[in-house]
Amino acid sequence: MLILPLETKVTSLSYADSEHTTVEDIHITVPGSTGTIHIHDSDVVLITLGSMTSSSTLGTNHTAASSAPSEGHLSNDGSWELWASLSNDSPNFGHAANFSTRVPQSHWQSFTVTLKSPKLLTHLAEFTHNAAGTGALTTFADSNWLLSIVVPQQPHFLSQPPDVQVFWGYGLYPSRDGNFVVKPMTACSGEEILTELLGHLHFPVQPYLDGAITIPCSMPYITSQFLTRGPGDRPQVIPHGSTNLAFMGQFVEIPQDVVFTVEYSVRGAQMAVCGLMGLEKKPRSVYKGEHDPRVLVKVLKAMMEDGVGGGSFSSDPSGDSMDQDVTVPLSLPIVI
Ligand SMILES: Cc1cc2nc3c(=O)[nH]c(=O)nc-3n(C[C@H](O)[C@H](O)[C@H](O)COP(=O)(O)OP(=O)(O)OC[C@H]3O[C@@H](n4cnc5c(N)ncnc54)[C@H](O)[C@@H]3O)c2cc1C
Repeated sequence: MLILPLETKVTSLSYADSEHTTVEDIHITVPGSTGTIHIHDSDVVLITLGSMTSSSTLGTNHTAASSAPSEGHLSNDGSWELWASLSNDSPNFGHAANFSTRVPQSHWQSFTVTLKSPKLLTHLAEFTHNAAGTGALTTFADSNWLLSIVVPQQPHFLSQPPDVQVFWGYGLYPSRDGNFVVKPMTACSGEEILTELLGHLHFPVQPYLDGAITIPCSMPYITSQFLTRGPGDRPQVIPHGSTNLAFMGQFVEIPQDVVFTVEYSVRGAQMAVCGLMGLEKKPRSVYKGEHDPRVLVKVLKAMMEDGVGGGSFSSDPSGDSMDQDVTVPLSLPIVI
């Protein structure tokens, strides 16, 4: 068995001299040195391509997260570097640059809030009629940052003290000025992000701000898997002609399946193992909820109960809705 330090990076592959694609060596770096792992006949090589969390940075309650890499800049995170190297090896290995060089389109900012008192989540549950853990995402449709929050059931963490509560949120347009804090989300400290959120909820800033720690997280590649793409930009799980190499993760081609999910990565790994090992067992077919009558009935019921059909959604792309009622879609999960 080969045990490698956690900081090990795979940098490139080399191949046997053959008409097929057969990986012969994996090239690695560990801090301060380089190395090679030789691949034996019975081995298979499974590689996760790209990363949605690459180059993420954290701020604090009082400071903003550091800025995202600029347009065209390729993160030096090992994941994108490796796929960029593989893209040069074969046209069958996809095109990393299609997903890694459009940061303004793939960037969002998320944040976590840790509360030292139950007051804010109690107020929120009264306002939304959703007990913690029951409401999925709540999106503030008129927020310039397009803010959403998710309040999980408490306690969320095993070691979470009983008097501490946590929730999570994000903004899809972090480079726009906020409605209440008039600067980009990317330039905001945790306190400023919570101030903006409280503004959209029409809640007072105090006592909530003083009892909270909000940590901003900048994620330059978080929606890179949703970027427009052409045929061949995502490789097949087992590329054409491969004898021992397969790809996994969010950037491989899996017809009908939906990215930004753990399931996508798991399915890719199952396809890779079943295919390369010649197993009879195959991954389960993709579940299509929108074709399931039971799901459709539940959706219809939820929409009727929440009055969505009555027009409770509103959207104001101009962001000029400060003097109007801010519409908060209640209880309707928005699936990302
Ligand atoms: C904020 C957020 C919310 C999410 N919410 C949901 C959700 O509600 N439901 C859902 O299903 N999914 C959700 N996801 C998505 C889900 O977490 C990911 O799709 C999943 O974790 C991807 O798993 P993976 O194994 O493909 O990749 P990763 O978890 O990225 O693992 C890849 C690993 O490979 C390592 N690696 C990469 N390149 C190299 C290299 N060159 N050398 C050495 N090591 C390397 C990385 O360090 C990493 O450890 C969310 C993700 C985020 C960030």
